[in-house]
Amino acid sequence: MDSAFRLYEADLHCHTTASDGLLSPTELVLLAAKLGIKGIGITDHDTIQGWEEAEEAGAKHQVQILKGIELNTNWNGKEVHILGYEMDSSSGIFSEKLKVLRKAREKRMVEILKRLQDLEINISVDEVQEFAKGESIGRPHIGQALVKHGYVKDIREGFERYLGTEAPAYVPRYKLTSEEGIHLIREAHGVAVLAHPGVHGLDEEIPVWVKAGLQGIEVFHSQHNPVDELRYLEIAQEYHLLTTGGSDFHGEACKPNVNLGGWGVSLKVIQQILDVAQHN
Ligand code: AMP
Ligand code: FE
Ligand code: FE
Ligand code: ZN
Repeated sequence: MDSAFRLYEADLHCHTTASDGLLSPTELVLLAAKLGIKGIGITDHDTIQGWEEAEEAGAKHQVQILKGIELNTNWNGKEVHILGYEMDSSSGIFSEKLKVLRKAREKRMVEILKRLQDLEINISVDEVQEFAKGESIGRPHIGQALVKHGYVKDIREGFERYLGTEAPAYVPRYKLTSEEGIHLIREAHGVAVLAHPGVHGLDEEIPVWVKAGLQGIEVFHSQHNPVDELRYLEIAQEYHLLTTGGSDFHGEACKPNVNLGGWGVSLKVIQQILDVAQHN
């Protein structure tokens, strides 16, 4: 869906340099302020490292910050992404589990580099670490190193030829099950939201996740078409779920055509999420 002419008040799905986004939390907030976006959700993969800096910048530039995370979970061999909002960062189980997930990312990165070496592509751990400015390493960082060395022209090609699930250097990593992910978020008093269900194609499983503690569904997303939006609006109504939305902004070079604020919701949805979190 092209979003060139739309701008939402609040974009609740954004990545920063804490994981695989290209902008630092401060840069992201500055971009939001420049565009006139009033609220953003910081939803990095397996880390909350970006929260503090985003909140400081947000306070300075009048951009409301919703504290979030994205967990890529496993459901019978398929990947299902769960967003969490407003977790209690002092929860020991939550921070311990995130650490385990990030360690697994590092281990997998080394294994991917070995596979690339078998394909006569030499990229060092240090080089990937340089692209991964934050504490959560991901395949896009390896993709950036592939681009730098001229093996591919952009990150997308890096996924197509080497890093994607069907590509020769792909290595899976340890993941929580979707239910475990939801429980982890709820244990830390956060609000668990199903990310971009249109990408997963597992609508029939939604009732199971609602039973596990799911409280929201990401209806508006850069990879949803209008038919998806209407379907998930209906499902949200049926199961009394919060309706959320966001672009999944990573930065132009990582996800071209996914502009900040191009998908999202009204600002009052942030308050709805905060209210639900209060009672969790
Ligand atoms: P990882 O977290 O290491 O498993 O890598 C998954 C991340 O890679 C996703 O969060 C996306 O940001 C990014 N990604 C996945 N597929 C592609 C693609 N085809 N092109 C660019 N980035 C991608
Ligand atoms: Fe990502
Ligand atoms: Fe996702
Ligand atoms: Zn995301």
